[in-house]
Amino acid sequence: MNEYDSDKITDVLRAKGDVVLTERAEEADIILFNTCSIREKAEEKVFSDLGRVRPLKLAKPDLIIGVGGCVASQEGMTIFRRAPYVDVIFGPQTLHRLPELIAARRASGRVQMDISFPEIEKFDSLPTPALSKTEGAQTNSGAAFVSIMEGCSKFCTFCVVPYTRGDEISRPLDDVLRDVRGLVAQGVGEITLLGQNVNAYAGEHDDGETVDLAYLIRTIAALDGVQRIRYMTSHPREMTPRLIELYLDTPKLANHLHLPVQSGSDRVLANMQRGYTALEYKSVIRKVRALRPDISITSDFIVGFPGETENDFEATMKLIEDVQFDVSFSFLYSPRPGTPAAEMADEVSYETKMARLKRLKARIDELENSYSEKMVGTVQRVMVENISKKDARELAGRTDNNRIVNFVGPASLVGRFVEVAITSVSMHTLRGERVT
Ligand code: SAH
Ligand code: SF4
Repeated sequence: MNEYDSDKITDVLRAKGDVVLTERAEEADIILFNTCSIREKAEEKVFSDLGRVRPLKLAKPDLIIGVGGCVASQEGMTIFRRAPYVDVIFGPQTLHRLPELIAARRASGRVQMDISFPEIEKFDSLPTPALSKTEGAQTNSGAAFVSIMEGCSKFCTFCVVPYTRGDEISRPLDDVLRDVRGLVAQGVGEITLLGQNVNAYAGEHDDGETVDLAYLIRTIAALDGVQRIRYMTSHPREMTPRLIELYLDTPKLANHLHLPVQSGSDRVLANMQRGYTALEYKSVIRKVRALRPDISITSDFIVGFPGETENDFEATMKLIEDVQFDVSFSFLYSPRPGTPAAEMADEVSYETKMARLKRLKARIDELENSYSEKMVGTVQRVMVENISKKDARELAGRTDNNRIVNFVGPASLVGRFVEVAITSVSMHTLRGERVT
């Protein structure tokens, strides 16, 4: 989502004037930080990064330094108090107002801040998605993100998102379809529908009815030129029968479901207010697998939630065995200011939590590897995303089950679907050979 927002920030500035992107801070007239506050580590990084650009501001007083994203939303003027050389503070829902904020800063000489939630206005003010990102970069990757909803109204007790991005709000169906058609016309074949909780999508149809994510996916799948559809992130509580059914009758839907579970302990899940039990989660997975037996199921885990006992942790490890997750993300619980979990009693030591996290990661890694090894010898349909960073003769592409594969091929294949035979796997990378 942050990558998507960063692209939007670029689009908004480009639409308003002659803007050239640079990766070199010393050359810049405007330096923008798009921030994340999901965990404390991400948040602290912002202040150390700001400290690093401070000397540039001293040397060039006209330089504009802006902080956007969820840290801006959460901290507001505290950012200015900690870093008084910051000029502009904007939230995830006000990034479209950035040109005005910068102009107001230049005219007034005073710090400007707008971290409000003006709801759908942001989407209405964004230019149509364009593919070119950084100057000189591969312009067409063939895969693009389309945001379909913003915010979250779930209020899981550990999470800061509902406070920083506001309530769930969906874009009207026609607006999403316009973006998708525009991207397809530019050669995009793979669309990832984005949102904090995409399966809470409730978009307005032009006949006044409200449509769900299943309807949206079906409509997009019916468009010529769309070859593969992904969505993220979804919430287990809203994996509706209508959505699950798509895995039977919509072959364009990728063979991968990222469904964050967080914990395998019903007690912890209840304290997190996730709204499901481990059994209910497994039942969703069983239904999906009944329709797509080889689908890759990936997840997010939080280890060390306040009061997590040894038994709770073992329940998570058991869930991992029961579901046999593919590539997953695991995080040490990080207390976020203002969230209910930050007030919960927590007696478990840091060492114990780290040991649990290590054990969980090791098991997830083993599972990932065994899935990768099973892919060796198969032929995969791969969307070529870009030229490999390590070797210019090589391409990097994504399989249907969301794995990156490196293989030798010409740059002209970037943005196209090709068949690749998987030949080997090492660490987290698959290698292959193009099948012609
Ligand atoms: N909406 C998605 C997840 C969004 S946040 C969902 O509900 O599943 C992405 C991931 O960050 C979460 O799945 C969770 O694993 C992790 N996360 C969120 N808040 C966290 C916190 N306070 N500490 C540690 N990890 C956290
Ligand atoms: Fe955060 Fe996801 Fe829960 Fe929303 S559903 S509060 S984004 S973890």
